[in-house]
Amino acid sequence: MNKKLYFYFCLCLFVCSTVLLSFGSGKVSETSANSAAASFAISGANIWDGTGQAAIRDGVIIINDGRIQAVGPRASVQIPKGATVISGEGKTLIPGLINAHGHVGMTRGLKAGPENYSEENILAHLRQYARYGVTTVLSLGSDFELIFKLRGPAGAQETPRATVFTAGRGFTGKAGYPVVLPGNAGVQREVDSVEEIRIQVEELTRQKVDMVKIWVDDHWGHYKKIRPELYRAIISEAHKRGLRVMAHLFYLEDAKSLVAAGLDGMAHSVRDQEIDDALIRSLKEKKTFAVPTLVREESTFIYAQPPAFLDDPFFGRWIAPEIVSQLKDPAYGARVKADPDFSKFPGQLKMGQKNLKKLWDAGIPVVFGSDSGPPARFQGFFEHRELELMVEAGLTPAQALQTATSNAATALHISGNFGTLTKGKRADMILLDADPLADIRNTRKINKVWIGGREVN
Ligand SMILES: [Zn+2]
Repeated sequence: MNKKLYFYFCLCLFVCSTVLLSFGSGKVSETSANSAAASFAISGANIWDGTGQAAIRDGVIIINDGRIQAVGPRASVQIPKGATVISGEGKTLIPGLINAHGHVGMTRGLKAGPENYSEENILAHLRQYARYGVTTVLSLGSDFELIFKLRGPAGAQETPRATVFTAGRGFTGKAGYPVVLPGNAGVQREVDSVEEIRIQVEELTRQKVDMVKIWVDDHWGHYKKIRPELYRAIISEAHKRGLRVMAHLFYLEDAKSLVAAGLDGMAHSVRDQEIDDALIRSLKEKKTFAVPTLVREESTFIYAQPPAFLDDPFFGRWIAPEIVSQLKDPAYGARVKADPDFSKFPGQLKMGQKNLKKLWDAGIPVVFGSDSGPPARFQGFFEHRELELMVEAGLTPAQALQTATSNAATALHISGNFGTLTKGKRADMILLDADPLADIRNTRKINKVWIGGREVN
């Protein structure tokens, strides 16, 4: 388009939007909500801000340049003249969800492996999280060099997508779990000596990873578990360089040993037995947080029969139909049931739920995480199921949402920008058509999602 035409085009846009705004008076007018620097207001919504305070009834939030400029009850917040106003009447606004244990880039269809790891695939996964209101994710231990180019929030010219943080490549022992599982060869750092660990931690330090990940498991004795002196060295070498460490763990005894060594976050629930007071005391002393990943446990047995959610439009809208039909194939269910440990899996979920409630009641910081991203662990959808499983475990909807907002931001040291709908924070938010505090399944009634003030389509 030539310059003169472009001028008239812009003039027309300006006039049209001014006309729209003058008719606006509190009605929906979204003409400029998509551009990076747009200023807009949401008026009339209940605003649950993630701070632990009760929801603001009939609230107003002002977004300017991707950040929250003001928020409060309608009477106390002045909507700037000319701002686009989006009606929030009858709706609830909550902060975007933060997933402190996810994975990106490795899965295509129902298969995972380093051959799938590309910029295009990582971005596809981050956009998938975004559609479901998961606006931030910590990718935990399965990331190659490419991630460092994409780390952090989307650029202003990029399609809106979830902000991503990363642990780079995580640690296990030589030929240890999970490197021996399909799709994991070459993913984890396999270490066998403290000297190797030093070199590897130095690389992670140069990469400025947001977390260090260790896998400490033998999967019911089937695989090799990393030795304690090695994971102790990883924790101490990481701490020396100002890095923090989260661990995949399963057994109570390993949790105790890891926390005693100074572990910063448990990346899963203890699932072999009920946790005891000794672990709780130690978690408190070391200020370790806990990420339950309940839906990860559910995924180990839920596909034995085709689960009802495969026909739920909230699930199917963004999932390729051929994936759904593969999951419905009786052969897929038969493979799930053929796992020698299949009978133990439902009990692992129940144990995880029991231990979640115990940790919450003891005042241990519980941080939201789903372990979504590997095959059949669906990014975005699984986070909503995780919230539901947390409530089933005994948390209130507000407590479950707190884990996914302020608790997650605090644990990941990103609370300066993320986690609450308060002045100065990034405008990462979900407008819901129904109140999630009344029923946690209402987080699925997504009207709109914004990331850094830009609407996700
Ligand atoms: Zn994981």
